[in-house]
Amino acid sequence: MSTDALLSRRAFLSAAAASVAVHARGAGAPAAGAAPSVLVSGGAMMRGARFAPSVEEVMRAHFGAVRRLALVLHATHPEERDAMEARLQVACREVGGSTAESLHRRDAEGARALLREADGIFIGGGETFVLLGELQRTGQLALIRERALAGVPCGGSSAGANVSGRRIGTTNDFPVADVASREALGLLPVTINPHHPAPTNDADFRVRAGKIRGYLRFNPGERVLALGDAAVVRLHGGTARLAAGQAWLYEAGRDRELVAGEPVPELIP
Ligand code: ASP
Repeated sequence: MSTDALLSRRAFLSAAAASVAVHARGAGAPAAGAAPSVLVSGGAMMRGARFAPSVEEVMRAHFGAVRRLALVLHATHPEERDAMEARLQVACREVGGSTAESLHRRDAEGARALLREADGIFIGGGETFVLLGELQRTGQLALIRERALAGVPCGGSSAGANVSGRRIGTTNDFPVADVASREALGLLPVTINPHHPAPTNDADFRVRAGKIRGYLRFNPGERVLALGDAAVVRLHGGTARLAAGQAWLYEAGRDRELVAGEPVPELIP
């Protein structure tokens, strides 16, 4: 065989091997070396059509480089999804200029395509059980998880934060819809409680802490990440930190308030 023929045969074989590897991995499967980039907020993170000044910086850091953001607004009442999408489009432009489109505009296949093509995913708040039920029913739960594990920046506020944890257990929501199971995205190894009252609101703070401690007495193997309003925890580059507001980590028999900027090893998946 001539040198040219040998080289082109080698090129063909290595291209074929690369294509087999991509095929085996699947389009949305984890790329080698990709680390999940996950942001959770306790809710109340918007002021009108903008993110609150205290969360703008971390939203910019997380989503600023995203060009096409998929919005998952199943938790919002259907009559309010268009308005919520419009608010988030404005807010997202302010932090980086990405175009944002909600899945609710598309049919089932179109929604899956958007999740596959988007380079960022944001899950909004509202009714947690409606959101989880819809993610399960449509198969979007597995797809979002796959994209997040491939390193696509994902974020969730309130109900969206709840489903970013391992399972639904400490939501403040009523079960207004049935779900196949309480298992959620599992992007953070915790159960999440959003809208956690601040200690300055002593009575509400104590009641909430008591409810979470009670939950953990029955579920001692779980950890609960409680997020105050406009609090943000971000997992990025293999480290999780409180980036804005107040948050607490509850474990059976002990709990602590997180310190802004300090790594929280318990939140590493
Ligand atoms: N209903 C809340 C929200 O998404 C979720 C919760 O409080 O658990 O705003």
